[in-house]
Amino acid sequence: MISNKLTENTPKLEKATTVSRRRIRICHECDLVLALPALKNGEKADCPRCTHTLVRRQRNAAERSFALALASVIMLGLSLSFPFLGFSVKGIGNGIELSQTASTLVGFHQPLVAICVLLTVLVLPFLYLSALSWLCIGILQGKLLPHSRLIARTLAYVTPWMMVDVFVIGTLVSLIKIVGMAEVELGLSFWTLCGYALLLLLTTQSVDRDWLWQAIDSEPKAPEGIILGQSGAPQGLVGCHTCGLVNKIVAKGRCRRCEEPLHPYKGPNTQATLALLVAALIMYLPANLYPIMITTSLGSTEPSTILKGVLLFFQSGDWPIAVIIFTASILVPVGKMLALLWLCWVVHQQQQQPLNRLKKVRLYRVTEFIGRWSMVDVFVVAIMVALIRTGSLMSIAPGPAALAFTAVVILTMWAAILFDPRSIWQPTPAVPNNELPSSLPKENHHV
Ligand SMILES: [Zn+2]
Ligand SMILES: [Zn+2]
Repeated sequence: MISNKLTENTPKLEKATTVSRRRIRICHECDLVLALPALKNGEKADCPRCTHTLVRRQRNAAERSFALALASVIMLGLSLSFPFLGFSVKGIGNGIELSQTASTLVGFHQPLVAICVLLTVLVLPFLYLSALSWLCIGILQGKLLPHSRLIARTLAYVTPWMMVDVFVIGTLVSLIKIVGMAEVELGLSFWTLCGYALLLLLTTQSVDRDWLWQAIDSEPKAPEGIILGQSGAPQGLVGCHTCGLVNKIVAKGRCRRCEEPLHPYKGPNTQATLALLVAALIMYLPANLYPIMITTSLGSTEPSTILKGVLLFFQSGDWPIAVIIFTASILVPVGKMLALLWLCWVVHQQQQQPLNRLKKVRLYRVTEFIGRWSMVDVFVVAIMVALIRTGSLMSIAPGPAALAFTAVVILTMWAAILFDPRSIWQPTPAVPNNELPSSLPKENHHV
């Protein structure tokens, strides 16, 4: 992938006044108004102020996304058709299929955790892949299939909640846990699951929203009198979070192209993020105080909290797995909540803070990226419970902390999604002239 950072290798426009009003974008993360350069396949354009990737051009985008989505669906179908994992102790064994990792939890009175596993690993990815295939077929035929616009609008809402890659890591952790106490057998479904996770990742990366919306609907011109190189909100402009089109700010406004509600920047608003963080902090207490798994072995019942599970791994010398569980279950949720709380506080401060704006926005991106990996512990519980159901030698049941911890992960992810990174850049710093892309005028310029 060739990086086209706007500041370098951008084709120079002969005159600044030739900037097309169909190539103007507003960065979602810092609200900077800029003009996209002409991009070749394989190139991407990053925001010169906050480095957020604005567009990423793919070669044969529709064919590529369709092929990857189709391959992912086939892998998903195979993963559901064959045995997933098997284990046996002294000849007494048990084998499970992938769907049983969710359905077994229902039998242990954990329907909400079961729904979360089902949604994040099977249902949402399947809906996403079907929706993308639907769109690509229409685009390739040159005639959109029914409801394509509505489907394209929902894609972005589904993406953060697909966690097949995290589930694969959860499976590996479960295997390491079980290897010490039983013989484990990997079914064909385990290998197809790995393929499904990889293909799903490639599929989501192949979708460039900017390209997708240009293929679905032609782009209306941006409003007149736009000043490039400055923030959009003071000019009464807002970039659509779904299709990228520049719109004028009006009360309860919707995008002119995709009809999604617009979210203009109106100053730092951290109430929703803080409310969700407080809820997550409250749920974090039962998540750690109550047992997450209850193991019954040879008549003795042993409840195990998250911290106890980590300590057991350390004591038995499995420190790499202890480090993974400690990072995913303790370090990441706590670090994420503290980072978001700090960002919520810092955007209301006027004076100079220890971190500059770029470092703050990077901290935000890290919290947004790592949040979903905390689900590893929930998936480990789901897999262990399904695999070692009530048996004569040993049984594992989910504890009350499983639901509380799932709630912590979802609430913190939601809090991060609702945090508006544009507030990090306010009051807006002027972009130094030497940092503006060559396609932009060196002084404030009206288009
Ligand atoms: Zn930006
Ligand atoms: Zn839009």
